[in-house]
Amino acid sequence: MKKTLDLDYSKNKSINYIIDNINTYSPDKKTVMETKYRCAMINRHRFGQNLLKDALKEGCRLYDATICVEPIINDNYVCGIKVRDGKTGKTSTLNSRIVVDASGAIPALRNKIKLNNSHIDTMIDESDESFSYREIRKLKRPLYDPKTAKIFMSGTYAHGGYYWYFPESRDIINIGIGIPRDKETYKLKEMLKTIMDDDPIFEGSKVITAGGGMLPTRRHMDSLVANGFMCAGDSASQINPVTGGGIALSMGAGLICADVAVHAIKEDDVSEAGLWRFNYLYCGRKDIRWKDIKDYVYDGAPNAASDLLRIFSKNIEDRSLNFAFKNFIDTTMLAKVSYGHSHNPTFSKKMKILLKSLPRLPLLIRFTHLMRLMDKIKRLYMIYPKTPDAFPEWKKRLDAIYDEVYKISK
Ligand SMILES: Cc1cc2nc3c(=O)[nH]c(=O)nc-3n(C[C@H](O)[C@H](O)[C@H](O)COP(=O)(O)OP(=O)(O)OC[C@H]3O[C@@H](n4cnc5c(N)ncnc54)[C@H](O)[C@@H]3O)c2cc1C
Repeated sequence: MKKTLDLDYSKNKSINYIIDNINTYSPDKKTVMETKYRCAMINRHRFGQNLLKDALKEGCRLYDATICVEPIINDNYVCGIKVRDGKTGKTSTLNSRIVVDASGAIPALRNKIKLNNSHIDTMIDESDESFSYREIRKLKRPLYDPKTAKIFMSGTYAHGGYYWYFPESRDIINIGIGIPRDKETYKLKEMLKTIMDDDPIFEGSKVITAGGGMLPTRRHMDSLVANGFMCAGDSASQINPVTGGGIALSMGAGLICADVAVHAIKEDDVSEAGLWRFNYLYCGRKDIRWKDIKDYVYDGAPNAASDLLRIFSKNIEDRSLNFAFKNFIDTTMLAKVSYGHSHNPTFSKKMKILLKSLPRLPLLIRFTHLMRLMDKIKRLYMIYPKTPDAFPEWKKRLDAIYDEVYKISK
């Protein structure tokens, strides 16, 4: 944002703390994958207020305490929204050439867009949603490794999901849990308590704030645009499907979405075809990337690859996950596949993996199949169609990959 928009959020107290490493643990905690990765722990309220101040400075108008109720559709175009004043209850309408739904995990508009001949993807399956709950806690004693975030995969503690420790200072920690919606989501708070009861670092700790919510943990929507309409951020499922981290991703998507919207209005074409560039830019097609924007803004392809990993690992029991962590998943591989790069170990490395994995050969075979599918889907996103008419054929190829991943994930 600093480079592209000249907005510097390292100032104005938006950032609380910087983390240098992320460690991912196997369910039995016997295998750790260490990744050097710098993460900013932000103060969400202050960060939001700073974003808002900058938007107002640029001429945006804020309708505070105003609820978006539904889209206004005319001549097969979204051309505004109906809103309700949260204080007076009065309803009114706002007209615009393009409406962007950025209303988060429970979208105000996306699933109400009913247009003829549209390719927009409006519905998310419940099994692709997760619930998350986290607490910010003040610890009694400082952390032993305050610059390391920890992610724990665990069937026992997190029922097919995971939990995390993100330090916010030497003695403040963000501890949270995320589990698929189809598991026992109503027990999230209880589950977090069990994790803390079993770890002495939480002895005598106190809650500073707590909160939870829903997350759309799947690949982003297959098409993000319709006549006069776009969706971005959580409302478009532009989130990391494995970790549920979506702040940076929403910002990247917002950047591309805004650029496409401005361009479409200048060109006087806000039709689905006029806004289609958002779809293929977000997927990261190498031929059309902006030169000065970093790779991680183009999250579509890596996230689709990670989505396959999510589906696979959701149904795999702890015993198999422990074995896989110990014998054939390593940091380089995970980092590579998470970012959608191919992973091609040397022949000798392949042989070593094969020998170590002989006792669980079927698991290795399924996992190798998964890696191939992850590579395939990444390549498919690189050829996301440049026009809407080619989309149905492309979508058939995408669906075929998903059919395969569900087959090997049973
Ligand atoms: C418990 C929990 C912990 C998380 N932790 C992390 C983390 O550590 N790191 C990370 O990267 N991500 C995290 N996430 C995910 C992250 O919060 C989201 O991915 C991110 O906030 C998405 O941004 P967004 O702008 O798309 O949506 P949101 O941040 O949800 O913003 C949507 C906005 O739209 C408003 N809105 C909704 N409906 C209406 C309506 N009808 N009318 C008017 N306004 C409306 C909402 O009030 C809100 O202000 C977490 C999520 C949860 C639930």
